[in-house]
Amino acid sequence: MQIPFMNLKRQNDALIEEYLAAVRRVIEGGVFILGPEVEEFERSFAAWQGVRFCLGTSSGTTALHLALAACGIGPGDEVITPCNSFVATAEAIAQCGARPVFVDVDKETLLIDPTLIEAAVTPRTRAIVPVHLYGCPTAMKPIMEIAQKYDLYLIEDAAQAHGASIEGKGAGGFGHAGIFSFFPGKNLGALGDGGAVVTNDEKLYAKMRSMRNHGAQRKYIHETVGFNYRMDAVKGATLSIKLRHMDRWTEKRLARVELYLELLAGASIRLPVVPPGVKHVFHLFVVRTRARDRLAGFLKERGIATNIHYPVPIHQQKAFAHLGYSRGDFPVAEEASGEILSLPLCADITEDEVREVCRAVKDGLGRY
Ligand SMILES: *Cc1c(COP(=O)(O)O)cnc(C)c1O
Repeated sequence: MQIPFMNLKRQNDALIEEYLAAVRRVIEGGVFILGPEVEEFERSFAAWQGVRFCLGTSSGTTALHLALAACGIGPGDEVITPCNSFVATAEAIAQCGARPVFVDVDKETLLIDPTLIEAAVTPRTRAIVPVHLYGCPTAMKPIMEIAQKYDLYLIEDAAQAHGASIEGKGAGGFGHAGIFSFFPGKNLGALGDGGAVVTNDEKLYAKMRSMRNHGAQRKYIHETVGFNYRMDAVKGATLSIKLRHMDRWTEKRLARVELYLELLAGASIRLPVVPPGVKHVFHLFVVRTRARDRLAGFLKERGIATNIHYPVPIHQQKAFAHLGYSRGDFPVAEEASGEILSLPLCADITEDEVREVCRAVKDGLGRY
């Protein structure tokens, strides 16, 4: 049995006729960028996430850059963010000319450790960008308190957390803005790159809306220097189709997670935890073991694909060497990066596939 890391084909095969009808509608309508299809998606995604405003963007990275830039983050500013994330989080901060200031992560969740944030605040700090990594919402209350105390912008990277919530309130809706990615492999994936920024702040919404489209106030009248970060109509139209299935897909995904947790209980491997009061949507199912590399090799031999999210914490990436961090600065993230392993998971993974993965994990652990 070959088990891919995720299988998007099953989902796409089931929807292909609907996609084709939507593409035909876009072509016949003749509006290929933004327009009614993107607006409809923005309205339905905002409603689904429980926020007032949503803007479709060309990717999650551009959504984050847009949000930071619209908040005025620029050269000389510092932005606090976890060192364990996809590189795009720090990259968007650097794209503003600002300095990413990394903070270590919590031992259990591997999300930014809120107790370490305040010590990282300096007079130059302008914003905090927590990341709801793996689909698990970061504890927002303590972070919101710090943001309020020091008058900082709070922008949530919810690129992996579509539908996640804290006490019923959607991730991405706590701060000034939240961003999502619709990279094909994300829980809600577009037919290509795509993203969104959400906010409850009408002024910020208007600013981001203009900056997404070259800073235009109206056609050919530009009051700020902006970007071309617009979403294509085909992406919006097909995302609207997929959004209608998201609740069902999330429930299926979570049912497979339950099965993983049940079958791996008692194995000598560290399983992911769900903090109390949150809905974790498990973009990734991340286990931990000191025998990670041997286990991953063993699974590969058994035809099971795995991944590591992420093998090198951002402060240790060459791209950020100029920031002057070194090994040992963030011991929790550094140690975890050698132990974490993401097992196959998507809404369409079957129970038999999960059983097979768990059997192989236990066989592999038995050897090492
Ligand atoms: C995917 C991702 C991004 C970037 O999104 P793109 O759509 O790929 O640009 C940013 N942050 C995190 C945590 C991500 O997982």
